[in-house]
Amino acid sequence: MKGLMQDWPLLVPTILEHACTYHGTREIISRTTEGPIHRYTYNDLARRARKLASAMDRFGVKQGDIIGTMAWNGYRHMEIWYGLMGHGAIVHTLNPRLFSDQLAYIINHAEDRYIFLDLTFVPLMEALQERLPLVKGFIIMTDDEHMPETALKNAICYEELLAGGDEEYQWPELDESTACGLCYTSGTTGNPKGVLYSHRSNVLHALTTNGADALGLKSQDSVMAVVPMFHANAWSLVFSAPMAGANIVMPGALMDGASIYEMLKVGKVTLTAAVPTIWQMLISYLGQSGESLEHLQRVVIGGAACPPSMIETFEKTYQTQVIHAWGMTEMSPLGSLCTIKGGLDDLSAEEKQALKIKQGRPPYMVEMKIIDDDGNELPRDGKAFGHLMVKGPCVASDYLKNEDEPIVDDEGWFDTGDVSTLDQHGYMQITDRAKDVIKSGGEWISTIDVENLAVGHSHVEEAAVIGITHPKWDERPLLVIVRKPGSEISGDEIKAYLTGKLAKWWMPDDVVFVDEIPHTATGKIHKLTLRETFKDYVLSTA
Ligand code: AMP
Repeated sequence: MKGLMQDWPLLVPTILEHACTYHGTREIISRTTEGPIHRYTYNDLARRARKLASAMDRFGVKQGDIIGTMAWNGYRHMEIWYGLMGHGAIVHTLNPRLFSDQLAYIINHAEDRYIFLDLTFVPLMEALQERLPLVKGFIIMTDDEHMPETALKNAICYEELLAGGDEEYQWPELDESTACGLCYTSGTTGNPKGVLYSHRSNVLHALTTNGADALGLKSQDSVMAVVPMFHANAWSLVFSAPMAGANIVMPGALMDGASIYEMLKVGKVTLTAAVPTIWQMLISYLGQSGESLEHLQRVVIGGAACPPSMIETFEKTYQTQVIHAWGMTEMSPLGSLCTIKGGLDDLSAEEKQALKIKQGRPPYMVEMKIIDDDGNELPRDGKAFGHLMVKGPCVASDYLKNEDEPIVDDEGWFDTGDVSTLDQHGYMQITDRAKDVIKSGGEWISTIDVENLAVGHSHVEEAAVIGITHPKWDERPLLVIVRKPGSEISGDEIKAYLTGKLAKWWMPDDVVFVDEIPHTATGKIHKLTLRETFKDYVLSTA
């Protein structure tokens, strides 16, 4: 017998309509590419999103058409998300940090019909347009006054487009499984892979990650999405903030410490989220300027492992709670968040600190397990580490137009490519990407653990560990370090600092210093490039 409850499809525009009806005067505060800080409300956002959707009809955009955006986080980008998704089109977020070959590949592979772009990216797109035969036009996200001279074919001014739109536009009735967002993720081999979100997965993901033990957003919050909208759904903040009725703050193009601090202050931000490199810049700025974090209560740190020293600085020096989070594009993206759960109140301060370093535990709707190379499930004892497998309604079931192997096994488990432990309380800790883990004499060394310890040294700005071929042990760790400005610390001093803090056989054989560690388009350490740089390196122990 079926239940007698209503079939109310989980659609993205319902989030916006809810925000309008109950939190219509809450604000979206953006740093614009034109310069000034722009403020308006959810009511304004919804009115303009509807106008945009109706303008798309006039343009002949159909449900299921894929439309690209290359833009910073800002109010217009948010209008485009809601307007297009609500219309039934699919928003394909383009990461401007990708190489031009990759950009051309993903735009053509997705068959983007139009591309919306911020002023910043006009030159980039002008150089690329000849390679994009399917794109019919480019909509420049600015007003008439700032519209540039451009060689882009069919260049349209965003505000002019909107001016002709109908604010009474009615969102069409869609099936909740309709696709609405597309984000490509680049593996180390092969072409980038397209992850195709649905209305249902976005709504469910916003709901589940908004739980009190996860992001826990409330209508009193002011949320700054530093994590870009072109990186894995901006960790859902563009959906979860309006769902909760929280203000949302958009930092635009400027990510340096002073600019981020300014937006924290202007927006009276209570929760914010980004990768560790952004927070490193903010912490340096705070140290130099002597400023404090007046309103900020919680900072979500993920995308790469958060060093324990960063957690300590936020919590002890700035009285801001750190929520260490893990996830991936294929997971919408949040898969786990680290908050102390009920029943663990009796842990000592030290034990709690050790727990906070972990990547956390999954919210409802994410299932997790770890397995060995033969597929056997490993114990949840916090010691055994193996391949991290996940499943749930916000986890990808396939990539767009995938011609390779299926991405989930017969039981629906998706292999994250990460290696981790799971402890008896359900907390997961990433030890490495499977391809980065160092295999020394048949045993695994976690590069993340060694990096976390190294960046705890006050003279170390950034650290990366890679495996170097060794005649006896197959691979041994090489520690690559960027010193803090003015520091002359030596490799021996670093090793002396690490002694006693890690297992003897995990001690890096050598320490080398570089001016800069390469990063990927999503802010992670680019281990592949580092391995390439040091491919001929001969360890002193070899
Ligand atoms: P992306 O799809 O670009 O978000 O990248 C996902 C990958 O980033 C994961 O599979 C992890 O390897 C890495 N990652 C994300 N968050 C964390 C974290 N908190 N600690 C360690 N690695 C992380």
